[in-house]
Amino acid sequence: MATHCERSDHGPVTFYEIERAVPGARPMRVGVYVVDGTLIDTGPRHARECVAGIIEEHDIDQVVLTHHHEDHIGNAAFVADRLGVIPLMHHSGQAATAAPKALPTYRKVIWGQPAGLETSTLDDEVSTRRFSFRVVHTPGHAHDHVVLHEPDQNWVFSGDLYLTDRVSRAFEYEDIGVMIQSMRTVLAIPDCELFCQHTGRHMSHQHQIGKKLDRMLGLRNRAIVHLEEGRSIREITRALGIADRAHKIVSRGEWSAEHLVRGLLRDAGRLD
Ligand SMILES: [Zn+2]
Repeated sequence: MATHCERSDHGPVTFYEIERAVPGARPMRVGVYVVDGTLIDTGPRHARECVAGIIEEHDIDQVVLTHHHEDHIGNAAFVADRLGVIPLMHHSGQAATAAPKALPTYRKVIWGQPAGLETSTLDDEVSTRRFSFRVVHTPGHAHDHVVLHEPDQNWVFSGDLYLTDRVSRAFEYEDIGVMIQSMRTVLAIPDCELFCQHTGRHMSHQHQIGKKLDRMLGLRNRAIVHLEEGRSIREITRALGIADRAHKIVSRGEWSAEHLVRGLLRDAGRLD
């Protein structure tokens, strides 16, 4: 599987989009940011060459991890070793990052198994040479997920909180209700440029995350109606137009529309 890496510059923020070709499916994308000597996330293990190039090209003195998933920490041990820095992350992700669990096969093939590493605890604020970020704990997608907000520059680095506003599936490990709470927390921040870890820069974080929240609440309301009519979870995914066998099969049920529907109904207090 080929890996492609492309750079785009947005003032002091540089985004590297890493694309993994997936046979028979759309390519998977994830990225890393460099801002003012700080590397935000380190990409997946299978993008090692690309990330080695990035740390050659920039004078990096700090590494911040938005959460412990393999497409974000995959080169953290390598970068830490090369640069002699200890990456920072939310305290609740440090144990999972020190000893990452063996990944399911499809994630191992797409992103690669990360090596464990030592990290330091990210405080409520993290400074680069010129900028100062507020660290906002935003669990749901992952228990240790954080968003970085720079109030003077009006930047929100959203990790995996946004990803898309056309949400149609969820991972089994995601807590959808907690994610919705985190989205509301971030929507309360005055409008900022959004730097998504997978889709790059967007003009307005309130617009993008607001659209995603509307979509999720819309699906939730429709799911409630279908549930009250006695439909099963699988029937509800079909009625909502989000049924999707391919991802469910490839992920062996870890990533599916059913998980999204269940999570939304749980958030509405309609399922245990
Ligand atoms: Zn993630």
